[in-house]
Amino acid sequence: MEDWQKLMKESVRKSENIPKKFKINKKNIDKVTETYPMCSNSYYTSLIKKKGDGIWKQCIADIKEISCEDGVADPLHEETDSPVPGLVHRYPDRVLLLVSNVCAMYCRFCTRKRKVGKQYDTITDKDFKNALNYLKKHKEVRDVIMSGGDPLMLSDSKLEHYISEIRKIKHIEIIRIGTRVPCTLPQRITPKLCKMLKKYHPLYINTHFNTPAEITKESEKACGMLADAGIPLGNQSVLMKGVNSNPKVMKKLVQELIRIRVKPYYIYIPDNVKGTRHLAASVADGLKVIQALRGWTSGMCVPHLIIDIEGGGGKIPILPEYLVKKEGNKYTFRNYEGKEFLYEDIHD
Ligand SMILES: *Cc1c(COP(=O)(O)O)cnc(C)c1O
Ligand code: SF4
Repeated sequence: MEDWQKLMKESVRKSENIPKKFKINKKNIDKVTETYPMCSNSYYTSLIKKKGDGIWKQCIADIKEISCEDGVADPLHEETDSPVPGLVHRYPDRVLLLVSNVCAMYCRFCTRKRKVGKQYDTITDKDFKNALNYLKKHKEVRDVIMSGGDPLMLSDSKLEHYISEIRKIKHIEIIRIGTRVPCTLPQRITPKLCKMLKKYHPLYINTHFNTPAEITKESEKACGMLADAGIPLGNQSVLMKGVNSNPKVMKKLVQELIRIRVKPYYIYIPDNVKGTRHLAASVADGLKVIQALRGWTSGMCVPHLIIDIEGGGGKIPILPEYLVKKEGNKYTFRNYEGKEFLYEDIHD
């Protein structure tokens, strides 16, 4: 058994596995896990410093998941935009391929909470064949995003099978893997995995760190190994109350990410998912975060703030207002410090 598999085996799945030093209401947690399974591997659980901190909130079941009725199961209508099982085709030139239903931990805020930890919905060999046929026929698709669950929870050989089959399709220019493993189970990033992945360039990885407390020696090493394998790394965060919806925390996170060679890509306003609303930060929180980043730290550190519109509308970028007014060809802009400047556009 590899190290990462041992860490998975020691996961917190039931209230009685939660380290004894934390006082909990066992009954409440058991009630939640009947509906929404819990799983936090022993590496991620070890990052908890105190009950209720940003790590705890992401991995330990909370009674609010079942006591709050707000939200819907599949707000992004992924099921309706799916031409073949396991494949979501919403945008003109790229598709999501859901190759795994296993994760290194079950994030309490997950957008696919309806699926996480449940046995159904893994892509079968037949589904994968159908997905490949779909991709072969749809020449407009040039970007395949492998997602899940977490693709890096598959065995190296299963993952290589998927990637190499996709690579054979000439019009697929890039392959992306969406994975939280560099953050939640960095031990999974082994030299053998990196050696395999680097055969299939251009390959990109988008990972998912939410708080500076997740940046550890282990995760830094994992990201370094992937970057050394020539894989550009991006990060997508979800903005959550009590976790990271605070300009100071987010600034620290994005600076730390750049230091470990991960480019902040997106910050998401949480989707309206049932069982997660107690954690959701607001659009106003998101705008405050971006305002505190743009200009105040390296542009390399500044991600796009995104809201994924309910009903399958797609990702919409949102920005603080930098345009104060426009009169003819005269624009008044506000800079990061709030000072106003006039700009005359000779092309207008
Ligand atoms: C997010 C998403 C993508 C990828 O979007 P990018 O902006 O290219 O990163 C593709 N398909 C679906 C259905 C998505 O939700
Ligand atoms: S790793 Fe990603 S897909 Fe898995 S539970 Fe967490 S947010 Fe959801």
